[in-house]
Amino acid sequence: MALTLYNTRTRQKESFEPKDTKKIGMYVCGPTVYDRAHIGNARPVVVYDVLYRLLKHLYPKHDVTYVRNITDVDDKINAAAKQRGISIKELTEETTKFFHEDMAALNALPPDIEPRATAHIPEMIAMIERLIAGGHAYAAEGHVLFSVSSDANYGKLSGRTLDEMIAGARVEVAPYKKDPSDFVLWKPSSGDEPGWQSPWGYGRPGWHIECSAMSTKYLGESFDIHGGGRDLIFPHHENEVAQSCCANKHSDFARFWVHNGFLTVGGEKMSKSLGNFFTVRELLEKGIDGETFRFVLLSTHYRQPLDWNDKAVADAEKSLNGFYRALGMSGYEGAGDNLPENVLSALCNDMNLAPVIEQMHLLARSIYKTENLEEKRILGAQLKAISGLLGILQKDPEVWFQKGILSTEGGHYSISSPQEQINSLIEARNAAKKSKNFAEADRIRNELLAMGIVLEDTRDGTTWRRA
Ligand code: AMP
Ligand code: ZN
Repeated sequence: MALTLYNTRTRQKESFEPKDTKKIGMYVCGPTVYDRAHIGNARPVVVYDVLYRLLKHLYPKHDVTYVRNITDVDDKINAAAKQRGISIKELTEETTKFFHEDMAALNALPPDIEPRATAHIPEMIAMIERLIAGGHAYAAEGHVLFSVSSDANYGKLSGRTLDEMIAGARVEVAPYKKDPSDFVLWKPSSGDEPGWQSPWGYGRPGWHIECSAMSTKYLGESFDIHGGGRDLIFPHHENEVAQSCCANKHSDFARFWVHNGFLTVGGEKMSKSLGNFFTVRELLEKGIDGETFRFVLLSTHYRQPLDWNDKAVADAEKSLNGFYRALGMSGYEGAGDNLPENVLSALCNDMNLAPVIEQMHLLARSIYKTENLEEKRILGAQLKAISGLLGILQKDPEVWFQKGILSTEGGHYSISSPQEQINSLIEARNAAKKSKNFAEADRIRNELLAMGIVLEDTRDGTTWRRA
């Protein structure tokens, strides 16, 4: 089945064909490791993890290489290390380890290659030298700058005019720049700042050149897919294209540019600078299971904004309870089989997950309903096949239900034991019945049923048993 992806470069959905008959390359901009990842940072990780799983599924004969870098040289890192009184190396190693742990908790597969910027300085220097030799960059006062006016294609990815770019990026006007929109490829380091010897003196690379050098090294001058959050389109990705295409004459760099929408809180982009963020770790520690977390991130189309709120978390938990319940009832224990056609076609339609999730609910309902054990097993295998592509339902259903049940209220998440939760739901149902709110009473009964709890109303009150 043909995969269609929205390509930022052409601003339309396009049919994806691998460039090579044997391999597919995908590069995604990774974290700058100075602090714990927030849940906005987790969104691209989960989105491109699904794309990675999908590519491997669709192209089993291709060697799919997923590269996601670690930016371990950056002024924010220098400042954070100084503030904490630890070395830069200590800070970046600790933060990288935390990032790996947090993303593993979200069932994100590790990329095939995870290059660190500081391990690729010679490649960056070589690329900068090629840019200077080609008349696309110039050295001035220990800096090297990319000359934006030397590149006729500059601005095409983001679709901005030069004036818009200058206004949007609040570019730094500096005496050593020939043009205010020229951007830094290399800058001098002094004192305790990290640095390397280079033809332009002791210094360190700019952020954009890292991704150009590392993607070229591992995926070649032209590759299939480049991803990242939409905030990176300009200036980061625009600058990556300029550097790579000017340094490598025959390169068209990434053919597909895929960008995820923002994760928001109260409609505002979550970001460290606004201070409106929660870290992945905080939420995991408050009791949100990594799969619930992941399911929230997948519940909205990847290009749309996704607002994080209690309801979204509670809904995700409820859906997963239902899926796990069905999986447990199905008796199926393998890795999945017989992926439904409509699921694959929705995934291939620019990763449209809404019909996929709907199909999972349908399968779960059919598993509850049918009395035929073989049919239950077959449906369970389908449910598992879908969930393998989404990276959910990876636990044993028993283990899932043992963890207790999540309550959400005003940003406070708490886990109660299954027993406590069942008792409080029974109380809530009794109260609903007393006030003749039978719809709510039925809803609670069904919610419990989805958790595998059957209620029995007797003259002495309500009792429960496991189904
Ligand atoms: P950073 O460490 O800020 O460079 O971000 C790492 C990745 O997270 C990049 O791909 C960003 O585009 C992405 N990102 C940052 N904030 C958000 C957000 N609120 N929603 C979605 N993606 C984000
Ligand atoms: Zn990048």
